[in-house]
Amino acid sequence: MTLDAAALDAADPLAAHREAFVGTATPLVYLDGNSLGRPLHATADRIATFVTEEWGGRLIRGWDERWFELPITLGDRLAAVALGAAGGQTAIGDSTTVLLYKLVRAAVAAHPDRHEIVVDRDNFPTDRYIVDGVARECGLTVRWLDVDPDGGVTPEGLAAVLGPETALVVVSHVAYKSGWLADIETLTGLAHEAGAWILVDLCHSSAVVPVELDAWDVDLAVGCSYKYLNGGPGAPAFGYVAHRHLETNTFAQPIQGWMGAAAPFEMGPAYAPATGIRRLLSGTPPMVGMLGLEDMVDLLEAVGVPAIRSKSVALTEYAAALIDRDLPEVRFASPRDPAERGGHVTIAHPAMRAVTAELWAHDVLPDFREPDGLRLGLSPLSTSFAEVEAGIAAIAAALRR
Ligand SMILES: *Cc1c(COP(=O)(O)O)cnc(C)c1O
Repeated sequence: MTLDAAALDAADPLAAHREAFVGTATPLVYLDGNSLGRPLHATADRIATFVTEEWGGRLIRGWDERWFELPITLGDRLAAVALGAAGGQTAIGDSTTVLLYKLVRAAVAAHPDRHEIVVDRDNFPTDRYIVDGVARECGLTVRWLDVDPDGGVTPEGLAAVLGPETALVVVSHVAYKSGWLADIETLTGLAHEAGAWILVDLCHSSAVVPVELDAWDVDLAVGCSYKYLNGGPGAPAFGYVAHRHLETNTFAQPIQGWMGAAAPFEMGPAYAPATGIRRLLSGTPPMVGMLGLEDMVDLLEAVGVPAIRSKSVALTEYAAALIDRDLPEVRFASPRDPAERGGHVTIAHPAMRAVTAELWAHDVLPDFREPDGLRLGLSPLSTSFAEVEAGIAAIAAALRR
């Protein structure tokens, strides 16, 4: 691979999409698109039009005309382009954290004779906290899975903790620190052999790594829309429930609000869940929060995740080559093999906290993860090879000061 950033950018078939994002014409180096994606220019227009025309012009009629169905229709579009899921299984709403709570509680309720939830110690804090809280609330035990901090959940590791008591396995598709890309199809098979469900967190994989929820036979999934999906800070999350659990009525979530009820506008005396994925909803869906995600789904439909994954692999391979050449003093704290890695890489060194602070003051924005990791999140549609080169040069300079 050439290390000439200009040549790599010139040969990049997706390079032109970078201009669609706000701020890419400035010298700022953004290496944290896996935490908060840049906005699309289209979103600025869409939000303004929404206020003046849809909200301001249609007023309460907007609910009947478009808004009431948007959590499901947009969920279906996202599912088709980025989740490998057929229609009717995906809904948008709530935060990832709240959806995790609903899904974990539903999985536990569907397995009344089982008393353990499996989750790895390196999973994202909110995933661990929700599992721990539901276990306490429902009188279950958390089966903590220890993993290699530079890797993640493996089939061997999972097999060792599964058993007749396992109700649910909670796993991230791409580990938020190491970038480990879990083999979800194999993990799902193992969970099912043990009689358990699997809940996959797609926060760090959707729209950057191919996802095949239906083909992998996943039971439940969740993900946020503000990382590689560029929906904006606090944009609502998505939740997926496999058809088989919706059709057989084995899926019941605990926050039974009117928007997920069978007949919301009858205002009836008691809750009866809607049929299908609508039952995942609870209250009034956040319309403004979905607008940025709609724009990104438009773009994903045009580009396709496979092309994005190709550029993502090229970006992380390029970063790895520069790290090997220019940063001999750091530890590469992510998988070396791109087939085992998502869209970001982490490098570790005792000085990384101070290095990150210095870089931020100079408009170079990676992020820091405890205890000593600097994370380079390379969002493929908005990141150039030149940006990666400038970022690694800035890290090298800061480390040597
Ligand atoms: C970013 C992230 C979350 C975020 O949860 P929110 O409720 O959206 O704040 C959860 N899980 C994982 C794995 C994440 O990467």
